[in-house]
Amino acid sequence: MKPRIALIAHDKKKDDMIALAFEYRDFLAGCTLTATGTTGGRLINELGLEVTRMHSGPLGGDLQIGAHLVNGEIDCVIFLRDPMTPQPHEPDINALVRACDVHNIPCATNVSSARLVLTRLSEMS
Ligand code: PGA
Repeated sequence: MKPRIALIAHDKKKDDMIALAFEYRDFLAGCTLTATGTTGGRLINELGLEVTRMHSGPLGGDLQIGAHLVNGEIDCVIFLRDPMTPQPHEPDINALVRACDVHNIPCATNVSSARLVLTRLSEMS
């Protein structure tokens, strides 16, 4: 089965997400991708990836991804959080990271860990 990867980036991390996804574009093109609204829009428009878009994070997109994860539909989360800016949906962010821990799903919250996870996943597929 194709790896099912969720991609989320806070506003100040979106350029990093696009650069990361460009780096792994060939691998990601063969994955089933889900993303929050704005992040997903940029991945589609700027990289031509096929992405299922949820709502924007502040409107519940993190929770939607969390629900898919709890249903066993997500294998890995790349969540480029902005640790320097308060987020209105902090409880949703914590809920998603907690759901990853509850269900033992890899969750990379910065570019270095994302590279490790994506490199390993690409070697396994
Ligand atoms: P966005 O949501 O991709 O719609 O911006 C991410 C977030 O800010 O949590």
